[in-house]
Amino acid sequence: MRRLFPVLVRRARALPWLVAVLAVLALFGGAATASAEPAAQSPVAGKTYVIGTDTTFAPFEFQDGSGNQTGIDMDLIRAIAQKQGFTVEIKSLGFDAALQALQSNQVSGVIAGMSITDERRNIFDFSDPYFDSGVQMAVAKGNTDVTGYEQLRGKTVAVKRGSEGETFADSIKGKYGFTVKPLDQSATMYADVKAGNSVAVFDDYPVLAYGISQNNGLKTVTDKEQGSSYGFAVNKGQNPELLAAFNTGLAELKSSGEYQQILDKYLKDPTAATQSGFFGLLTDSFPALMKGLGLTLLATLLSLLVALVLGIVFGFFKVSENVVLRGIATTYVSIFRGTPLLVQAFFFYFGLPQMTGVPMDVLTAGVLTLSLNAGAYMTEIVRGGIQSVDPGQLEASRSLGLSYVTSMRRVVVPQAVKIMTPSFINQFVITLKDTSLLAVIGFAELTYQGQQIYASNFRTGETLLIVAALYFIVITLLTQLSNVLDRKFNK
Ligand code: GLN
Repeated sequence: MRRLFPVLVRRARALPWLVAVLAVLALFGGAATASAEPAAQSPVAGKTYVIGTDTTFAPFEFQDGSGNQTGIDMDLIRAIAQKQGFTVEIKSLGFDAALQALQSNQVSGVIAGMSITDERRNIFDFSDPYFDSGVQMAVAKGNTDVTGYEQLRGKTVAVKRGSEGETFADSIKGKYGFTVKPLDQSATMYADVKAGNSVAVFDDYPVLAYGISQNNGLKTVTDKEQGSSYGFAVNKGQNPELLAAFNTGLAELKSSGEYQQILDKYLKDPTAATQSGFFGLLTDSFPALMKGLGLTLLATLLSLLVALVLGIVFGFFKVSENVVLRGIATTYVSIFRGTPLLVQAFFFYFGLPQMTGVPMDVLTAGVLTLSLNAGAYMTEIVRGGIQSVDPGQLEASRSLGLSYVTSMRRVVVPQAVKIMTPSFINQFVITLKDTSLLAVIGFAELTYQGQQIYASNFRTGETLLIVAALYFIVITLLTQLSNVLDRKFNK
């Protein structure tokens, strides 16, 4: 550690250069792809559009066994893109998050079994309708008490945040006297009902029907309500060429019969999921979970590197004699320690792009959030470490004729690092676990992969156990490794 410290400081100085070089490379890369684009016949030809969708809304969008996004919406948008000569990059964000992302221009369009409602027409432009839907109520399979809205009095009903189901529930909750509980995903809603926390769920009827055919443990008890139709949405007044291409493509698919084929593929006798044992679940989900674990580690590593630099810089600011530097460091720490990580993640991914008009990809937003947050804690660790070295040490070194900088580097910092190491290891474990919060902005890390898996197989408990075990194993191994390094270098 003693020798490592100046190296880190030198690395930190090289960072702006590295960033500059990468930016130049990115610019050239961008220019090269731009010039490689084919002469456009249609305004969408050759373009790539990022399309947001729900994490799981089977049979409209869900993950197949090998972790690919599939379903009616996915087949439709891909077939239309192919016909119209554009490419789509699908982002499964969750329903509410996808709408947020569209509003902040993080995505160009949304296809997510999204109902065309008058309220939404104020902020989005919709394609021609492609499916007629409607909200229905379901309860746990074994529930014989609740047979209609009348029995909901005093009970809780699960709905999806921002969905038509939520609007419908809100519109009748006064009359029937129940509480509405908005959740983010269909799978979580169903799990909530099966666990008995909510007595019923309001969701779109084709989705409930599909889930029931896949043994999700529910049954429907009411007729479906008159609902709206699904449409593909773009931000109001934006990407009109994409909307037009969607409509043309949809009309072609309808007249060629491909549209019906796609519907039939998912709606006609869907094959019931075969329940494999726990080990079957483990082997089936392993590839996707490993992919998630890789991203978890990547985000942790990048964030900790940046956080370490921030912590060292602001930590030294905090112990500096300059009141301005101390003020800057204190403000930084107060802001990032004084606001929840989740709020910061939403702000960097949805808020900032909406305010600035500059989109930010999910890894950048995630790393920015985690590093600024962890950086605030690291600042305090560094400050605490330096201040806990007896001031006599610095005085003695100075009186021997060593300069302030040399005394810090040779005498104070090496002792401080020794004191700081356990806290650093602690922060590293915290940041690794905090990456799981990035699932809410659609960063495909370990927790997100877990959610995707139980969203399609409805085995929430077992899947979460596997996910937790993976975190536990990795954290235990990495903590052991850090302790070994600590003992080796901090003797
Ligand atoms: N059709 C519903 C809506 O648009 C729900 C969509 C969804 O949950 N993906 O509000």
